[in-house]
Amino acid sequence: MHVIVIGAGVIGSSIALQLTRAGNKVTVIDRNPAAGLGSTSASSAVVRFNYSTFDAVMLAWESYFLWKQWQSLIDGTDSYSKNPKSDSQPHYAHLEDRGYVMLDVPVLSNEKTMNLFDKANIPYEIWDSQTLKVRMPGIDAGKYWPNKPVKSDEFWQEATEELGGIYSPAGGYVSDPLLAAQNLASAANREGASFRYRKVVTKIEKDLTSARVSGVEIFDFDNQTKDVLTSGYEFIAADVIVNVSGPWSTLINRMAGAGGDFTVELKPLRAEVHQISTPKDILPGPIMGDLDLGTYVRSGPGGITLIGGTEPECDRMDWVEPEKIDEVNMTRTVEVFESQTYRFARRFSAAQIPSTPVGVVGVYDVSSDWTPIYDKTDVPGFYVAIGTSGNQFKNAPGVGFIMAHLIQAVESGADHDNQPVVYKCLKTTHSINLGTFSRKRERNTTSGTVMG
Ligand SMILES: Cc1cc2nc3c(=O)[nH]c(=O)nc-3n(C[C@H](O)[C@H](O)[C@H](O)COP(=O)(O)OP(=O)(O)OC[C@H]3O[C@@H](n4cnc5c(N)ncnc54)[C@H](O)[C@@H]3O)c2cc1C
Repeated sequence: MHVIVIGAGVIGSSIALQLTRAGNKVTVIDRNPAAGLGSTSASSAVVRFNYSTFDAVMLAWESYFLWKQWQSLIDGTDSYSKNPKSDSQPHYAHLEDRGYVMLDVPVLSNEKTMNLFDKANIPYEIWDSQTLKVRMPGIDAGKYWPNKPVKSDEFWQEATEELGGIYSPAGGYVSDPLLAAQNLASAANREGASFRYRKVVTKIEKDLTSARVSGVEIFDFDNQTKDVLTSGYEFIAADVIVNVSGPWSTLINRMAGAGGDFTVELKPLRAEVHQISTPKDILPGPIMGDLDLGTYVRSGPGGITLIGGTEPECDRMDWVEPEKIDEVNMTRTVEVFESQTYRFARRFSAAQIPSTPVGVVGVYDVSSDWTPIYDKTDVPGFYVAIGTSGNQFKNAPGVGFIMAHLIQAVESGADHDNQPVVYKCLKTTHSINLGTFSRKRERNTTSGTVMG
C-alpha cells in the first residue's frame, strides 16, 4: 500500500516511521525544507499525563516509556553507551525525567485525576500546601483562582487560602523537539520512507466512481515568502493519505472534501511561550502546571525557565482563520510577555523579569474539546491526525503506533465508526480505545485549556 503523509512534524514523522515499519511504501510531503519546522519547533515539549479521559492518559503514559527508550525506538541501538567518545555519534533527543506537579484548580478535579492515574498505574503523590512549599522552595502557595488580568488591582491582592497539587515523579520535558522530529524522520527515511521537502500539497484527487482518494498534486514552495511556485508540478498516486498538517489541517481537509461529519470543530490559535532566567534555588525541579494563575512552566538547559499560558479567560485569545495562518504575527508581544511572566512572578517572587521579551510564537490546532482527532474520515482512504490542541508533542511516539494500527485495521475492513478499533499497548499493560479520538465523538469534558 502506498501511503502519503502530509506534514513532516513530530507526529507526521512518527506515523511515517511506524507505517514504514509495518511494510507500507510511504511518501512524506512537507512544504518546509526539513522535518519539524512547523508547530513542532515552537513546542515546550512538556511530558505529563494529566488528561481528562483514560485513553488520553494512557496514550501519554505509553508514549512516556517510548521517550525513555528513544534511541531504541529510533534505530534499535543504544549507541551512546556503547561508544560515548566517538565523534560520529548521531544526536538524539532525550527525556529530562524530572516529575510534574499540577497545582490545584477547580476546573481540574484531583479526584478524577487520581482515579485515572490509579487505573493506569501512574505513580503520584498528593501534596498539601506545606509539602508544596518544601518541595518547591520559593513558591507562593496562595490560591488566586479565578484568573485575573495582570494589569488589574485584583491580580495583586493577597490570597486568603493556600493550595497544594498532584505530583508525579514521572514526566518532564524532551530536550529538543525539533531534533526529536528529525530523529523520527531520519529513521523513517533510512528504513525506506521518502521525504519530499519544499513541496506543497495543493489538491487531493479522488476516484470518480469510488470517491476514494487517489493521490495529491504538489508544487514547489518558497517557505520564506510562503508562496506556492508555478514550478515542480507533480501528481503522486496513493492508496491512502494521512493529514498530519498541524495548524493547516482544516485547509487539507477541505481539499479532500472531509470534515462534514465532524462533531468537533478545529480552529488555529496563536500561542506564545516566554523565557526568563531561572530564579535561584527553585528549579530545576518538577515541571509545573498552574491553572490557578494561568501558566505552565518548565526549566531548561542553561538555567532558563519557559513560561506558557493556559488560556486565562480574562486574556484575549488570538484565534486565527485557517486561511490566514501564514499571515500570523510570529513576533512576541509585550502584552502576552507581561501576562505570562507576571503570573509566574506572582507564584515565585524571586523571578527576574527581563526588560525585553524572549521566547517563541507558534500556532495550536485547537479542537472544540482540546482533544486530538486520530481517525479515519468519511472520504475513503483519507485519515487524520489533527486537532493536537497544543498538547500532543508528548504523545507523538505513541501516535505513530496507533495511527499505523488504525489504518491497517480500517483498510482490512474494520468498521471503526461503529466498533472502535482498540490498540494494545506495547510498554504498559493497558489498551487504548481509539474511539475516544473519533471525529464524531461526543465532546469530551476537559479543562477547556491546553491541558486537555
Ligand atoms: C507554542 C507551543 C507550545 C507547545 N507545547 C507543548 C508541550 O509542552 N507539550 C506537548 O505535548 N505539546 C506541546 N505543543 C503541541 C505540539 O507541539 C504539537 O501538537 C505537535 O508539535 C504537532 O505536530 P504535528 O506533526 O502534528 O504538526 P506540525 O509540527 O505543525 O507539522 C505540520 C507540517 O505540515 C506541513 N504542511 C502544512 N500544510 C502543508 C501542505 N499543504 N503541503 C505540505 N506540507 C504542509 C507544515 O509545513 C508542517 O511542517 C505545543 C505547541 C505550540 C505551538
